[in-house]
Amino acid sequence: MASLPQIPGAKKKGVLLLSPGDDFKKLDGYLINDTVCIDGPAEAAFSLAKLIQEKHKVGIKIISTDKLENNGGELPADIEVIDSPIQEIVGEGRAEAVKFKGGKAIGVCLVIFMDKGEEMAELLIQLGTKGTDTVLNLTKDALNKQIVNKGKDSAIAFPETNYYFPLINALLNIEVKTLAGCEVALKEAEGLSKNIPAKTGLNISPLGGILNKGVATLICEEILAALSIANNEHPKGGIGFIPDNILRSLGLQLVDGRISGIAVILGPAKDEQAAVDLIRDFQSKSIVSLLAGNVNGITFKQQLENKGIQLGLENYIVPLGEDYLSAIYAVNFAVRAPLIYGGFKSGQWEEIANYIRNRVPAFVLLLGHVDEVLVATGLGALAFGLPIITDLEVPQLGKIDTTLFEALVTEKDYHKLPSRCILTRGIKVKMAQVAVPVPYAAAFEGERVRKEQLAVEFGGKASAAIEFLSMKEEALIDDGRVELVGPDVDQLPAGSKSLPLAIAVDVFGRKMQKDFEPILERQIHRFVNYCLGLMHMGQRDMVWIRISKDAFAKGFRLKHLGVILHAMLHQEYSAIVDKVQVRLYTNQADVDKLLTVSQKVFNQRDERLKGMTDESVDTFYSCLLCQSFAPNHVCVVTPERLGLCGAYSWLDAKASFEIIPTGPNQPITKGNLLDARLGQWDNINEFVRQKSNKTIDAVSMYSLMNGPQSSCGCFECIVAIVPEANGVMVVHRDYSGLTPSGMSFTTLAGSVGGGVQTPGFLGVGKLYILSKKFISAEGGLKRVVWMPKELKEILGDKLKKRAGELGMSDLLDKIADESVATSSEDLLVYLEKVAHPALTMDPII
Ligand code: SF4
Repeated sequence: MASLPQIPGAKKKGVLLLSPGDDFKKLDGYLINDTVCIDGPAEAAFSLAKLIQEKHKVGIKIISTDKLENNGGELPADIEVIDSPIQEIVGEGRAEAVKFKGGKAIGVCLVIFMDKGEEMAELLIQLGTKGTDTVLNLTKDALNKQIVNKGKDSAIAFPETNYYFPLINALLNIEVKTLAGCEVALKEAEGLSKNIPAKTGLNISPLGGILNKGVATLICEEILAALSIANNEHPKGGIGFIPDNILRSLGLQLVDGRISGIAVILGPAKDEQAAVDLIRDFQSKSIVSLLAGNVNGITFKQQLENKGIQLGLENYIVPLGEDYLSAIYAVNFAVRAPLIYGGFKSGQWEEIANYIRNRVPAFVLLLGHVDEVLVATGLGALAFGLPIITDLEVPQLGKIDTTLFEALVTEKDYHKLPSRCILTRGIKVKMAQVAVPVPYAAAFEGERVRKEQLAVEFGGKASAAIEFLSMKEEALIDDGRVELVGPDVDQLPAGSKSLPLAIAVDVFGRKMQKDFEPILERQIHRFVNYCLGLMHMGQRDMVWIRISKDAFAKGFRLKHLGVILHAMLHQEYSAIVDKVQVRLYTNQADVDKLLTVSQKVFNQRDERLKGMTDESVDTFYSCLLCQSFAPNHVCVVTPERLGLCGAYSWLDAKASFEIIPTGPNQPITKGNLLDARLGQWDNINEFVRQKSNKTIDAVSMYSLMNGPQSSCGCFECIVAIVPEANGVMVVHRDYSGLTPSGMSFTTLAGSVGGGVQTPGFLGVGKLYILSKKFISAEGGLKRVVWMPKELKEILGDKLKKRAGELGMSDLLDKIADESVATSSEDLLVYLEKVAHPALTMDPII
């Protein structure tokens, strides 16, 4: 048991010991009318100080040698930190004053000692040491066996990653490619388990170095997992290793706030309903859950499946595997974020650990079972600042140097578990309160409503459906009004499952502009999809909406579509939207009427967007959204070049600036033109220089080779030079095969991201390929010698049209794809055969 310090006066009344996890109600029995002294870890003491001060309005002295990082290190006027230890507590029977070294004394009414958790540390050392030794021995045995069977030089790798063994690569700067490489890493792990720093200097010192044992355990587990994959034992009951491309798409969602956190759930919930409730709560708070482990064969995944819950990344539920070893895939997922987005290099272990601690909002939820190996693995999680929350009765561990708040917390009440996890990790949850009878959150965006679940549908092949948002005068809008003209979904003709539908959204806003109409209209897709049991596809007059039987049974009716749009437009666009009303029509004649009106407007919008050029505006917009992951990255968005993630056009950035004037999208007046061919202006260069933390001096809007824009890692496509062909290739994220550069998308992405300028390589949004400004300094589309078939199909007629504008309607056929070449040799043969224009253009280098 923890005890009070052995100093004179420590046993007086008014001297109190609080342990991490103690209920502060203990304080209720004390009269607090004078200064309170709190001795303990600075952050924990500060949290308590604020509580006491708020309630009793007294001064607080925090006695601590730690640095206070929270609250920006700022202290309210009557809270003071003293870094000298208490020598004595004085008073007649009760604490009246404390004396410090050097004789200084202050009057107090209460002295609180906060337990620093040394006893817990002792327990962790014992269990963690056993666990680490167990995993080290297992790894040695498994590796030796593999070496005997296959030989030291036998190749070993995780699938579809450019980061080798990501954890080992990041922390130890070792590129493991063979079993011999595993041996080198294992030796380092052995050293770490004995607190011997690795060659990169890796040494995590808090808690007397026991976190090093945790890191050693994780390194071993990464080797064990790779061996399991090599022996076809993994993946089992999950996706196993998370490839780079999935990580990149999750990364973007973390950046733009669609994902607010990551729960690594180890073990099953206490029962199936508890698993469902827990996951629904996480989904509603936009937290992605990664699942691993089992207790007596029961997995969290199975519990969800038994209750009919749809799993998958689009539903924010990703089973990694049914054994506890699969938890390592969550770790080597997290460790790639600083490499991909942070611009850090392998071996920069301190920066990488800090990045994960501060920018990857993940936590471990340990359910139903713990053993020595899990303790050792948990120590590894704590080394990166990922706290552990559990439903098990275990000793608690307060804040340690690597975590933002408490390190290990028990919460047995499943209703309180999600909020306890969020508080402990300090996750900022973005949650929409929308009055509909089904759960509503971004986590449900990717859900599909399949035929067998279908209650009613609109559009697609079933009927006509359209959505149209337009500005109206204030007097014409009754805010919050939702009007339905025609039958509702519970009044369908017998045997029918479809209705025509027109959704007309009327918007008024003092700052609303015509230009914003399509931007707001485009959000209908997202807002409807956030609703559990609803599926929305398409836009304009090509909408397809489905309502599931479950949603219908829970009372979802057409008016709820209006409720959603009203609530969400206000919530997300309150800076430009003051009033919203929604009209819904389900009679064919009304739908046809709106169709005629809206089609004219759709055409006008297309014309307006088409007419915009970089020369026609004097202002471009920045996007710094990805700086939360790639601190030096700056996107400059122009009318003819959208953001590289494909999500932000110039109009979107403009609208976003109107909405949040101090936000990530700032207007940049172009200034003086420095180079028309490259697309360089003095103000743009200066803005990028400042916002890239002076790492980029000049940026060309139109060049691949000379000062190209940096890439953060979210790009839809990569443009890469193919020197042998005097041209470039373009490859999109979903293409997993080899390219003529000899690299896959994943491998190429490794050289492009991190907010760094890389001449010859460029991350771009798909639509930029169709722009007249697409690498125009190098000759534009005519330079493209290769792109995957699927990308050609996605760009379709627009690509043909652009080729036609260049006077080369046969260009598309001359651009090779994987069906004719995946090597530079085959590519050259093909290009010669079709006389591709790049072969005769000026040298690209
Ligand atoms: Fe990130 Fe650029 Fe997209 Fe903004 S425009 S979200 S910075 S990739």
